[in-house]
Amino acid sequence: MTRKISFISLGGTISSKVSSTGASPALDSSDLLSLVNAKIGEVEIVAVPYKPAPSASLTFQELHDIAALVKREIANGSEGVILSQGTDTLEESSFYLDLVHDSDVPVVVTGAMRNADLLGADGPSNILSSILVSLDSESWGMGVLVVMNDEIHTARYVRKTNTSSLSAFTSYPLGPIGWVSEGKIRIVMKPLKRVRVKFPEKESGKKVSLLKVTLSDDLRLLESVETLGYDGLILEAFGGGHMPNWNLDVIKRIAGKMPVILCSRTGSGDVLISTYGFPGSERDLISRGIIPAGDLSGAKARILLKLLLENGYGKDEVLSFVERHFY
Ligand code: ASP
Repeated sequence: MTRKISFISLGGTISSKVSSTGASPALDSSDLLSLVNAKIGEVEIVAVPYKPAPSASLTFQELHDIAALVKREIANGSEGVILSQGTDTLEESSFYLDLVHDSDVPVVVTGAMRNADLLGADGPSNILSSILVSLDSESWGMGVLVVMNDEIHTARYVRKTNTSSLSAFTSYPLGPIGWVSEGKIRIVMKPLKRVRVKFPEKESGKKVSLLKVTLSDDLRLLESVETLGYDGLILEAFGGGHMPNWNLDVIKRIAGKMPVILCSRTGSGDVLISTYGFPGSERDLISRGIIPAGDLSGAKARILLKLLLENGYGKDEVLSFVERHFY
């Protein structure tokens, strides 16, 4: 029996062509599929139309629409969905899609570091590898996977770590969970558990701000988190989760009004919870109502908090969700 998989191109470098003003998204889902020209026995690959755009301009409303589209494709019989998009925000969008993905059907996100007009463009081979991954039985029940440069990553850990290298996507401090070799899929590790969040019926526009702290920052921006009407805040703090010893009263006040999540700007490792005791330390911040986020990056914590807020979670429910799933 013929298996159906769906391919949706959202734009990005993978779909970009060069004009006198520079590269911009131009190719759509069927253009990209025809570049790959994948003929795989008894598989129908359906190109689902979507307007091509740079991923820097993706919005939460679009992510909500895309997640709903993925669900529709699966409900209509797709046994795999491949999304290609710009790489700039791929680590965030793939995590969003992963959190709300409630079936075992493989969803694979890919992109390219070289546009379609460049020598050695990696888009077509990334799409082909993604198709092969989506068809592999080992990919079932794995949530959303990211395939770049013949490596298979989880959406939970993958990050873009280079501006232009073909190997920009990594999962430090872990690695890829598998790879593609001679057209064969090798998945050698599986996540112990998946974190899921209910797909919110609609996008209601909850706003989460992310503030990365830097040396001698006067932290005056914190005040605008209150005045500009944000619903949640992510602090990307120093080291194990440390802030300067000033403006801590403002942080406490904000944490009294909305969930404030503590991440580390180091990029890996758990935010500490029980080591340091100085003003601005992780223990001090936690005592002021801040929620430590395990090893979630700031960008991924923001996606999680956004979805929890869209589900109506209050501060205490966010705290117990994060404690349950990320420690
Ligand atoms: N500017 C591109 C984007 O849409 C970058 C890329 O796709 O690699 O994210």
